[in-house]
Amino acid sequence: LALLWVLFTCMVLIAWGVIRRMVNNMYRLQHTLKWQAWYDPLTRLPNRGALFERAKALSAECHLQQLPFSVIQIDLDHFKRINDKYGHQAGDLVLSHAARLIGNSIREPDIAGRVGGEEFCVLLPGRTLVEAAQVAERIRARIGGKEILVLKNQTIRISGSLGVSSAQETGSYDFQHLQSVADSRLYRAKRAGRNQICAQDEEEPESSI
Ligand code: GH3
Ligand code: MG
Ligand code: MG
Repeated sequence: LALLWVLFTCMVLIAWGVIRRMVNNMYRLQHTLKWQAWYDPLTRLPNRGALFERAKALSAECHLQQLPFSVIQIDLDHFKRINDKYGHQAGDLVLSHAARLIGNSIREPDIAGRVGGEEFCVLLPGRTLVEAAQVAERIRARIGGKEILVLKNQTIRISGSLGVSSAQETGSYDFQHLQSVADSRLYRAKRAGRNQICAQDEEEPESSI
């Protein structure tokens, strides 16, 4: 009877160990899957879907509290040329370098994400258009501020164009609207020569009636 008891205890202990390991593995897998669903593996920034979700929640919160809410859209300049000239791997390196700079240029509760190939978006809850434009300028200066080693003995300097919009100035807390305003300003910055920020729309030409 004692032997049976020992055997039973051993089996229970082994079963408990196996179950514990399975549960741990499941948790780890869940964590990995969650990470893969929400983050971009190259830049380790939130991906488009994750950023949109956060944006909707943050803008609604700011709307409710009548706080400012701003958005910065960033697009690296002539990025295709980097891929074409130095290869896709060099392009990837530049992307993770730029993402790190963007991430280091913002503070809680601001959030940066990768929303396209060489496109990033920063959410700035509680910040006005003027404050967001200052952050955008800081990001622009940092992106162009350092040479990047892309190949052995080959460094390059990159630049980015940025568009800024804010809820108070546009009169809307709708994230998609704010992003489209920031995007059109970004393309204004591109048209004006790249490597610059733009935080306002083109002035309407005066009517000549
Ligand atoms: P512009 O100044 O007008 O923005 O020009 P651009 O060359 O930056 O823009 P364009 O849209 O012509 O090219 C973007 C390129 O980004 C094309 C695409 O191959 C590249 N790209 C997108 N995703 C990735 C990526 O994950 N890694 C690399 N290496 N390249 C990427
Ligand atoms: Mg682009
Ligand atoms: Mg580009």
